[in-house]
Amino acid sequence: MDMIINGTAAPAADETWIEVTNPATGECIDRVPRGSKEEVNAAVEAADAAFGEWSKKTTRDRGLILYRAAELIRRDHKALAALLTREQGKPIRESTDEVRGCANIFEYYASIAGLPAGEMVTLGKAGDCLVTRVPLGVCAAIIPWNMPVLIMGWKVGPAILAGNTLVLKPASTTPLTNLRIAGLMQEAGLPQGVLNVVTGPGETTGAALVQHPRVKKISFTGDCATGHRIREMAQDHLKILTLELGGSDPMIVMADADIPKAVEGALRGRFYNAGQICTAVKRLYLHEKIAEEFLRLLTAKAESLTVGNGLLPGTDMGPLNSAEQLGRISSVVSETIGREEGVIRTGGCPLTGSGYSHGFFYKPTLIADVVPDAALLTNEIFGPVLPVVTVPDLDAAIREANRSKYGLGASVWTKDISTVKRVYDEVNAGIIWVNRHLIVPPEVPFGGTNESGIGRENGSKALDSYTQSKTLYLGW
Ligand code: NDP
Repeated sequence: MDMIINGTAAPAADETWIEVTNPATGECIDRVPRGSKEEVNAAVEAADAAFGEWSKKTTRDRGLILYRAAELIRRDHKALAALLTREQGKPIRESTDEVRGCANIFEYYASIAGLPAGEMVTLGKAGDCLVTRVPLGVCAAIIPWNMPVLIMGWKVGPAILAGNTLVLKPASTTPLTNLRIAGLMQEAGLPQGVLNVVTGPGETTGAALVQHPRVKKISFTGDCATGHRIREMAQDHLKILTLELGGSDPMIVMADADIPKAVEGALRGRFYNAGQICTAVKRLYLHEKIAEEFLRLLTAKAESLTVGNGLLPGTDMGPLNSAEQLGRISSVVSETIGREEGVIRTGGCPLTGSGYSHGFFYKPTLIADVVPDAALLTNEIFGPVLPVVTVPDLDAAIREANRSKYGLGASVWTKDISTVKRVYDEVNAGIIWVNRHLIVPPEVPFGGTNESGIGRENGSKALDSYTQSKTLYLGW
């Protein structure tokens, strides 16, 4: 079994392949195998066979391979970023950030090799206990298409540093850069079988991986409904789960905020990666004293964004990742307007015409005066559409911010520390930013409450979720 199942074998028939499309042009750029249950079984067996030796290596040795992988990612960052843009759509600047972000994550986990530490518990005459943390075995990582390289880093870094082996299933629209990075990890010295990549549809290949009895842990990032399905499928074998299921992050701007800075924050927070980020700014709450001025400035900025092929210099925002995503965004906006649940300030339709005709482009969109129960506010809107609500005071902002089934991130823009304290105490979210949004450093735990999921990624504590405690009881 090769470490990476990457489709070098000849296809038996057309239906054995998945085509990967450039979302800016609609062209097929490559194809990967449509993996079946057999490939999943083979990958899990390879991971299982590699586990014994890999888990016995020192964390220092495992960390050194992560360091080397980071070096190789930096060496090849231009080619990796171009490939990511071609399969995902985002501007090359953002792809470069993401590729470097993956290297940062590997370096971070390499730098904390040695954790998690064990502990000694003394029980007097009853004895002494040594409690250590041991790896779980074969883990599964199911990756989405919005930030495939960064999220690969979040899962692969801690999993393999902790001594586990892994089977990774990329999203079907963005498998190529994941495969390329897995190849670099092999070049960095990762032994055969430690990281295995299986491409194929989530409904079959992904489900087979989730249900495989020898997979001990599943780390999934993606849609809330898929997360629930995975939880149901995983319960038969009592698998350990980390589920990152998205969000509907509120951004609250108070009257005392630095308005130009907050306008930039909203612009980047919503339109980075064409809005396809779990912690994007998905709801904007503006204090009534600054609301009109803020919207005027933000509208001008949104209208000045250059939307186009991410490979072209000067592109600020690329296409959506697929025709399905474009369809979802177009429908939710037209339904909102049809039901008179908000008023379009700019955008509100796909981009057509020269340069756009074969891609999945949508205009940067601002919708004001959105009514409280509109789908734009209650669902996760995964595209460049920002609903804006005017609020009279902080009480109303906090109340509205908490009217969501999600609880991933939230930001407050203010100079008043008591406002910060109230938002931190009262808004349901895993992370509260102050005068920032959308920054997710590898050193800090990331994850949410409620329907945003279960567990945390990043930070040293992520190692806990890839290990379990084991106790040596010494009776004297
Ligand atoms: P999915 O949750 O379906 O896809 C995420 C990953 O899960 C992909 O690798 C997918 O494979 C896989 N998958 C799908 N079904 C199963 C299954 N039954 N068992 C195991 N794995 C599975 O998201 P979509 O791509 O359908 O996007 C739909 C919506 O989800 C978006 O509009 C957005 O709202 C949300 N989303 C949120 C993300 C976040 O980071 N919060 C990321 C991506 C989507 P495959 O690609 O082959 O289908």
